[in-house]
Amino acid sequence: MRFRDIPAHESAKERLRNFVKTDKIPHALLIEGPDGIGKFALARAFAQYIHCENRQDGDSCGMCPACMQHISFNHIDTHFVFPVVKKNKPKKSFSDDYIVEWNDFLNENPYMDFEKWLIALDNVNAQPHIYVDESEELIRKLNFTSHKARYKIVLVWLPERMNEECANKLLKLIEEPHNDTLFVFVSNNPKEILPTIYSRTQRIELKRLPDDVIASHLSENYSIEMQDAMAIAHIADGNMIAAINGITLNRENSRFLELFIQLMRLAYQRKVKDMKQWSNDVASLGREQEVRFLGYCQRMMRENFIYNLNVGELNYLNRAESQFSANFARFVTERNVIKLIEVLNKAQIDISGNGNAKIVLFDLAIKIILLLKS
Ligand SMILES: [Zn+2]
Repeated sequence: MRFRDIPAHESAKERLRNFVKTDKIPHALLIEGPDGIGKFALARAFAQYIHCENRQDGDSCGMCPACMQHISFNHIDTHFVFPVVKKNKPKKSFSDDYIVEWNDFLNENPYMDFEKWLIALDNVNAQPHIYVDESEELIRKLNFTSHKARYKIVLVWLPERMNEECANKLLKLIEEPHNDTLFVFVSNNPKEILPTIYSRTQRIELKRLPDDVIASHLSENYSIEMQDAMAIAHIADGNMIAAINGITLNRENSRFLELFIQLMRLAYQRKVKDMKQWSNDVASLGREQEVRFLGYCQRMMRENFIYNLNVGELNYLNRAESQFSANFARFVTERNVIKLIEVLNKAQIDISGNGNAKIVLFDLAIKIILLLKS
């Protein structure tokens, strides 16, 4: 991982480079900030930068033996510590039990989706921790590895999940005066880190990612049109993991848009018989999807109303949606917008409360005929 592979966070990268340049690398560094912004990727890039034998242009070279080892997660002086669940056997539990899963996890998505990590641990309801066995194992490894590099680096993902006994043992390492070990902690919830550890770290705080950075990443890596990518990025609220998950939602959205357009056309043309069929189609989606669909319809009503106000920067419609809205928006006015959202919301509540979907949806369709004409 190189600095240039990570979008944004330029001032943080500059600080990290400066630590190396001035030979003042903190022995315990904490990179903190919201979920899904690339904190751990930055920690990895920092470790690679420190170890690189041929740094150039403020970045690691990506080609020297040290870089190659970093790229394949095989750098002998780089250790990963991360939360795991206890296995029944053997009795001790530490990160290396899951090193294969961990490497796959890092490879798959550098933004570290915690939910995906739970899946990798094969226990979606787990509360993984960093146990005391971890620090014992780490001390053993740090003592016995025949290190080549000047610094041994320990990258700790989610120190807020470290138990106290483990933290106390690690502290001894951190406080050792002439040690050659650097700790880089990466946290989503720094307030939950044990104060003994937290107070000994130098901190770098990263901010949420700007929408355009997320959108560019989506459009480059997932071949999504920029306008659609912007719409997804806006909903993701600066979180790349949410944005990537949003791509799947985006596929669901196009089905929802289709159903929304059908309903509006049928209501406008007062095709009551076809509306019956439409209600049956939607009712076959299954309850959870129906509830999401009705949420989607409320969002569309709101967006179409805003569309009329000609404030483009407040509009978050993807391409297909705005194509439809170009003609449809004029039907959603100050006279009916609140009522339209209300009836959709009522239907959503009824369906989540186990109402008969076919009846609720058909009833909704009839109300929409009246509201669109008003
Ligand atoms: Zn290199």
